[in-house]
Amino acid sequence: MDAVRDYDLIVVGAGPAGQSLVARLAHAPLKIALIDKTSQASLAAPADDGREIALTQHSIERLRALGVWPSFRDEEISPLIRAEVLDGASSFVLGFADRSRKAPLGALAPNAAIRRVLFERVRAQTNCDLYASAEAVLAGVDAQSARVRLSDGRVLAGKLVVAADTRFSALRQAQGIGAYMLDFGRTMLVARIAHSRPHAGVATEWFDHGQTIAMLPLTGKRSSFILTLDAKSAAEIAALDDAAFAREVERRTQRRWGAITAEGVRHCYPLVAAYASRFVARRFALLGDAAVGMHPVTAHGFNFGLRGAFALSSEILNAVRRKQDIADPAGLRRYERGHRRATLPLFAATNALARLYSDERPLARLVRGAGLRAMAFAPGARTLVEASLRH
Ligand SMILES: Cc1cc2nc3c(=O)[nH]c(=O)nc-3n(C[C@H](O)[C@H](O)[C@H](O)COP(=O)(O)OP(=O)(O)OC[C@H]3O[C@@H](n4cnc5c(N)ncnc54)[C@H](O)[C@@H]3O)c2cc1C
Repeated sequence: MDAVRDYDLIVVGAGPAGQSLVARLAHAPLKIALIDKTSQASLAAPADDGREIALTQHSIERLRALGVWPSFRDEEISPLIRAEVLDGASSFVLGFADRSRKAPLGALAPNAAIRRVLFERVRAQTNCDLYASAEAVLAGVDAQSARVRLSDGRVLAGKLVVAADTRFSALRQAQGIGAYMLDFGRTMLVARIAHSRPHAGVATEWFDHGQTIAMLPLTGKRSSFILTLDAKSAAEIAALDDAAFAREVERRTQRRWGAITAEGVRHCYPLVAAYASRFVARRFALLGDAAVGMHPVTAHGFNFGLRGAFALSSEILNAVRRKQDIADPAGLRRYERGHRRATLPLFAATNALARLYSDERPLARLVRGAGLRAMAFAPGARTLVEASLRH
């Protein structure tokens, strides 16, 4: 049997959050292990998963700081000028722009491209060993180290284990950390489409009766079409051939974007939000969706994941500078407090809103129409959304 391999930091999950943390520590005098159950080939060239990630300006700055922003191809980045929220057939429009910066709200990039550019960065790091095609389980934590066992039997020991292993995090469970999970009973169908009318860089969230539609502007007259419905209807629409799917999108969008052409593969995601009851424990921290799994309607899961990666790596770098243990409990608690403060208000507000908009009873319909107008004039609610654009 192999001897235990020693590391300073072990990161389980080479998704966008885990990779961002590793990339931020590129120049730290640390020995890092990055583990993922998928193969190295699929980490290097991730398959398209249909997700277009709306990046805030702050996230773009963070990706620049990691040195990965120039690695995106021109056609992968689409500017996001403004966001608009519509309610049913009402002509009322609630608009959001980044008023503090007088700049576009942000940009859209495919999740697969984000994963690819981060992986290129991480692979070039000399302080990180990659364990691909390896599923990790938590093998034990004591005062000296935290250990993980890989599916091939190898055991790695580190001063700190970070779990960035999805919103259904098995390591979180193994560590005995609970999570508030909210199953919305809805599925999100995601597909790229072309349309005859221009989108002017505006992202639209349209809370219509019985369905929610989002259109995220891509390069040219193209958008990412996102339809939220019950699972059965979403699966039926996803299975339509391209021509029938395009007609279905035209019907559901009432031709607001003109004539539609289907592009590429359609993907379905069941909607489950998760919020861990704690983000840290002895020699252990949660990151990304494992800590905060947002409802995708906020377009904030990765933005928060990136924020968390910067906050946690700052604590680790401070400990390194002070020649302290990188799992210093005070540093981990600071990470937890700060990240909770940054994420909890939007997490709670979104879930309440998402529930309200999936409720078709007349009172709920009345409340949301009034709510949208109130939000336009209530500085508190508006500020919450606009402040979240800065995380
Ligand atoms: C339709 C949709 C649209 C979205 N749009 C946006 C948006 O506009 N803006 C935004 O900010 N966010 C958005 N998100 C959210 C965003 O995609 C997620 O928040 C982000 O991908 C989470 O990254 P992660 O690294 O935490 O987890 P994941 O991407 O889930 O990666 C986790 C990794 O861990 C690995 N893993 C899991 N368990 C183990 C194990 N035991 N051992 C080894 N490896 C393991 C997996 O293989 C995987 O590679 C969207 C999500 C969806 C579904």
